Amino acid sequence: MQKDQLFTRRRLLLASAAALGAAGTAGLVVAGDEEAVRTAAPAPAPAPGPQARQAPLKSSAFRLQPLTGDGPPRSAPRRLKVRTEPIFEISSRGRQMMLTFDDGPNPAYTPHILDTLARHDVRAMFFVCGECVEDNKHLLARMAEEGHVVGNHTWTHPLLTTLDRAEIESEMARTSDIIEDAYGERPQWFRAPYGAWNRAAFQLGAEMGMEPMAWTVDTTDWDTPGTDTIIERVEGGAAPGVVILSHDAGGDRSQTVEAIQEWLPYLLDQGYHLTVPHRRV
Ligand SMILES: [Zn+2]
Repeated sequence: MQKDQLFTRRRLLLASAAALGAAGTAGLVVAGDEEAVRTAAPAPAPAPGPQARQAPLKSSAFRLQPLTGDGPPRSAPRRLKVRTEPIFEISSRGRQMMLTFDDGPNPAYTPHILDTLARHDVRAMFFVCGECVEDNKHLLARMAEEGHVVGNHTWTHPLLTTLDRAEIESEMARTSDIIEDAYGERPQWFRAPYGAWNRAAFQLGAEMGMEPMAWTVDTTDWDTPGTDTIIERVEGGAAPGVVILSHDAGGDRSQTVEAIQEWLPYLLDQGYHLTVPHRRV
C-alpha cells in the first residue's frame, strides 16, 4: 500500500483480491470509479453533538468476544491499511453525494427515513450503535433488504478519546457482531462518535476490516435547529463529493424526518446521484 491518501478502485480491487485469497471474504468497491474515496479534504472540526449517552461502562460488557467458542462463527475481517485521518468526502464524479444517518436505529424515526428513501429509490449509510440495534434488529434487516449500507458507530456512543484501547476494541467489536447478526454482514465502515478519532480507533478499525468514514456537511439536526434550518444546511452544503451527516436517533428527530422529505427531492432535482459504498461479490 502506498502512503498517499488516495485509494483508487484499482488498489481496492487488488486489496479485495488479496482478501479473497486470504480469507474468502467479499471484496469491497466504493461506488464510482477511480479515486472513489478521497481523504485529502480539510478536516472539519469534530461536531460535539449533544447525543452522548453517558451509560456507565460495565466491566462485563467490555470482555472481548472470542472468534471461536459457543457463539456462531464470525467471518474473518479483511485487514486494511491504518489511516491517520478519516475519509471526509467521496468522488465528485457524476455529481455524487452520500447521505449518512447516525446513532440509530430508532423505531420512532428510522422507519420514516427509510420510507422517504424508498419513495425516491435512494440508498444511504446508517452508522448504528450496538445498544440501539439490540431491540431493533428488524430495522437492520430492512436496511439490508432495501440496499442500505450499515456502518459501526460503537456500542454506547462514547467519546473514544476518553477510553483505553481495550474499551474501544470492545465498543467496536460488539457492535460489529450485532450488525452481522441483524444485517447479515459485518460492517466495512466505522464512524467515531462526535468525529473524535484517535490512533487506536484507526488501528482497531483497520484490524476489523472497517474504513473510517467522517462527513463533509453536518446538518446540525442533533441541535434541533428547526426543519427549515436543516433543509437550508443540506441544500446550501450540497456539492459533488459531499457526505451529509444526519441523525435518526439520540433525541427528538421529527425535524430530521420532516426535513428529508423536502431536501431529498431537491437534491435529486439538482441532478445529484446519491450513492453508497457497495460490496463487490
Ligand atoms: Zn453519533
